[in-house]
Amino acid sequence: MSERPSFQESIKKPGLFTITYELVPGRSTRLREFRKIIRFVEEASRDNLLHGVSITENAGGHPALSPEVLGREIKAAGLDPILHFSCKDKNRNQIESTLFARDREGLHNLLIITGDYPRYGFMGKAKPVFDLDAVHLLSLITAMEKGFALPEEAPGGGVKLPPMPFFKGCVVSPFKRYEAELLPQYYKLHRKIAAGAHFVITQVGFDARKFHELLLYMKQEGLKVPLLGSVLVMDRRLARVIYRGAVPGVRISRRFLARVEEEEEKLGPRAAFIRAAKLIAILRGMGYKGVHLCGAKPVYRDIVSILELAEELFPRWQELIPEFLDSPEDTFYLFRKDPETGLNLEERNERANASRAPFSFLVNAFVHELFFEPGKYLYPYAFRLARRIAGSRFEKFFTRLEYLLKEFLFDCQRCGDCTLGEMAFLCPQSQCAKGLLNGPCGGSQDGYCEVYPEKRCLYVRVYERLKAVGREKDLQKGFLPPRDWNLTGTSSWLNFYLGRDHHRHFSPK
Ligand code: SF4
Repeated sequence: MSERPSFQESIKKPGLFTITYELVPGRSTRLREFRKIIRFVEEASRDNLLHGVSITENAGGHPALSPEVLGREIKAAGLDPILHFSCKDKNRNQIESTLFARDREGLHNLLIITGDYPRYGFMGKAKPVFDLDAVHLLSLITAMEKGFALPEEAPGGGVKLPPMPFFKGCVVSPFKRYEAELLPQYYKLHRKIAAGAHFVITQVGFDARKFHELLLYMKQEGLKVPLLGSVLVMDRRLARVIYRGAVPGVRISRRFLARVEEEEEKLGPRAAFIRAAKLIAILRGMGYKGVHLCGAKPVYRDIVSILELAEELFPRWQELIPEFLDSPEDTFYLFRKDPETGLNLEERNERANASRAPFSFLVNAFVHELFFEPGKYLYPYAFRLARRIAGSRFEKFFTRLEYLLKEFLFDCQRCGDCTLGEMAFLCPQSQCAKGLLNGPCGGSQDGYCEVYPEKRCLYVRVYERLKAVGREKDLQKGFLPPRDWNLTGTSSWLNFYLGRDHHRHFSPK
């Protein structure tokens, strides 16, 4: 048996097709399910098929066994663990503390995700944290990889910590139905890669043309990061759950569900393995760097048979494409269709004309430019006035006046670190359930929010407004730093002029 390369080596090695498998730990190590997972790990470690085994973290917004417990066991068995690391349950200090622990334990492979909104917990729904988003978290880890400098004011301040060798990836979904939902996903990918993502894994989907679109987009945009495609081993039961919309950001059509039911009727559980093997063959044929297998029960011989079948099917991958074109009729594709293969040509599709910007947006943009464009128009006067008000007996009154106006106009949440100017005058603190500052999560469905399905996703609205004034690509430039909780309840206007808000880090434009 030849030696198995590590996950990192396999990702970096040209010509090697990386295979990872996702484990979902349950809530207790005393259950039979956990023993099955351990048996899977033991069997997989005797073989060299898998380059990495990933472990989810509180998947689906439910509490579960912390991933490092399995991570340690997987590592001890000689396999390479990849730990999912989400932003939903930890604030930035707990995140940092967990990263120090991961470094100590040698668990350096991380998959950075925003995370599903918490659904329930002990005596009620858990508090959604989302103190950092995926772009912030990637930036923090990149800083730790380089040698993390502690801020001067912190205990032990000014010290530079030794570098920590993390290897981190991120997720993107090409499986979005509308342009305004899809492009913010791609724009956020730019930010994630600029923040240091070493590899990318797709969301789960069953549209080969969409898988291909992402590959082509990354090539055209010069995003040279290895891309793995998620392959869901989906039986009839799971297909029904997905069809009901119970898995955030993943969808299948009624037609596809009917096919899954019919195939399982004929072939039994093997139908799901054959479907997964076909998709693996297609992704390999298209040029994906590898695949990330998920959804399957942890039975190692099943994974072996899926991979063997994928190998057999690989030479005729193009014939299999028509079986994987499951998107609604009106789905937006970034590229023109290639009638020969059913995939995409390199030529981009026309995008719909921008709708007219709301009048309120144009007025707000005008006023914002008048007062907040450094050195221009009314900025110098406002700057001088702000310096006089700050610390004076009028500051309290001024702050109240500001929030009276902004609560009425924007449903402002008094964060004191205002991002309205960058977010097309929509407040992420009140309009996005996860308070995300740098692009959408993967959970939206047909343009509507994962958490509040009756509301349109904030980023769909931001994209539409920015597109109306030709500024939609602002969503891929730089990034907005996390909210500074020191500023809560203080005047965001004064904070801006006094250099206390997020602009002090760098200009987000
Ligand atoms: S508004 Fe959009 S980005 Fe925010 S939680 Fe809802 S779907 Fe996710």
